[in-house]
Order: sequence, then C-alpha cells, then structure tokens
Amino acid sequence: MRKTLVAGNWKLNASIQDTEKLINGVLAGLDGVSAEVAVCPPFPYLAQAQQLLAGSSVRLGAQNVSDQESGAYTGEVSAAMLKEFGCYYVIVGHSERRSLYAEDDAFVARKFAAARQQGLAPILCVGETLEEREQGVTEKVVARQLDAVIEVEGAAALADGVIAYEPVWAIGTGMTATREQAQEVHAFIRQRIAGHDAAVAEKVQILYGGSVKPDNAAELFAEADIDGGLIGGASLKAEDFLGICSAGR
Ligand code: PEP
Repeated sequence: MRKTLVAGNWKLNASIQDTEKLINGVLAGLDGVSAEVAVCPPFPYLAQAQQLLAGSSVRLGAQNVSDQESGAYTGEVSAAMLKEFGCYYVIVGHSERRSLYAEDDAFVARKFAAARQQGLAPILCVGETLEEREQGVTEKVVARQLDAVIEVEGAAALADGVIAYEPVWAIGTGMTATREQAQEVHAFIRQRIAGHDAAVAEKVQILYGGSVKPDNAAELFAEADIDGGLIGGASLKAEDFLGICSAGR
C-alpha cells in the first residue's frame, strides 16, 4: 500500500516571520496525521525551515533546482546546495516554470537527473492546459512530459521520485479536477510506467495538484491511483494544510 504524501508548494510567498509561524503551526497539528508531509518554501527560507523541522517527521523540499552542478550560472541553485540545507524533495517541471520560464521537457528531464544524482527525490510535475484538454490531447501531453524523463533517466529512476499530475487549468483557479477526471489520468500515468516496469509503477507515488482544499482532499485521495497532493494556495495556512494532511492514509 502506497502512503499518502501531502507536499506544500509555497511558491513566491513567505517571510522569516511567515516561515516560523507556518512551520510551527504545521508541527503543532500533526497528531493523528498518518500521511507523509513535506513543505517547499522559497530558497532563502530553507535554512530556517531546516532548523524548525529538525527532529520532526516533516520533510523539506525546494521548488526548483539547476540542471548544472556548479560554475558560471548566475542565479542558479544546485542540487548539492539543496542537499546541504536538508532538502529531501525538489519540485521539477512545475507548470508555472514551464510556461513562465520556458522550461521544456528536455530541460526538466536534466533537472530531474541533477536532483537524483545528489540523492534528492524529484517531484516531477506533469499536466495539460485547458486548451489541450479540450482538444482531447491530455494523455498525449502527459505521456510526452513523462517520456522525456524516462528517455534520459530510464523508468526505474521514477521510483526515486514522485510524480504530480497537475492540470494547469486547475492550478490556483479554484477549479479542481473531479475525482474521476484525476483518477483517469493518474491511472494512465501508472499504466504507462507499468509498460516499462510494473514494480516501479506499483511503487511510485502519484500526487494530484490543482486547487486541493480541506473539503475536497478526502474524496480525491480515496481514488485508487491518487497518492496524495501537491498543494499551493492551501499550504499557506497551517489549518488548511493540516486539514488536507488529515485526509491522507
Ligand atoms: C501548485 O502550485 O502546485 C498548486 C497545485 O496550486 P493550487 O493548490 O493553489 O492550485
């Protein structure tokens, strides 16, 4: 049985004060939560978060990583640096990075590889836009995004990370995919991985992301192939985030 993972993506939101309040709030409400929990603050707060989370069960993640190890890459942050600050996860291929910063499939695959090489667990985001869904090419898009990583790293590598299916039209819009819509794509992703390696497909956690809230988390997480959530907006309030974590198994 795969465990539920609930990971909070804080995006470009936080301050020193917010980080302390939010992390302490989450830590204070974990009693009775059986899901695995992670938080992904912006880079400058990783050291503070690492200290606040020390000795707890909550894992730390980053929101992005360089595909390079070191050198003349102004503004970049390497996987080794993230490791040094206690990161366990790193998000790669978030749709905001794909669309706003022109990160293509090959680039995302290199980031996945760079993270893995340092022993970080990449959270690989895949998902279609509304236009693509309406054109009926959801599976084609998700397969392309997944295959780009499989081509570079091999299917077995997926077992070292997590996949997050995030329909772009549901991110930050309040428009959650229905449980059926989400389950359909999750099952497709698992089947596609199984086509390469059945054991990896069975093991890999596939999270759903897109306007998950305390009141819709339980029905989504109850689906056979939905193993938790990548949470944006609702991860910024300890109470809401904990409400979602409590819906996990
Ligand atoms: C996200 O950014 O990964 C996300 C799912 O955001 P939200 O929960 O706000 O839709």
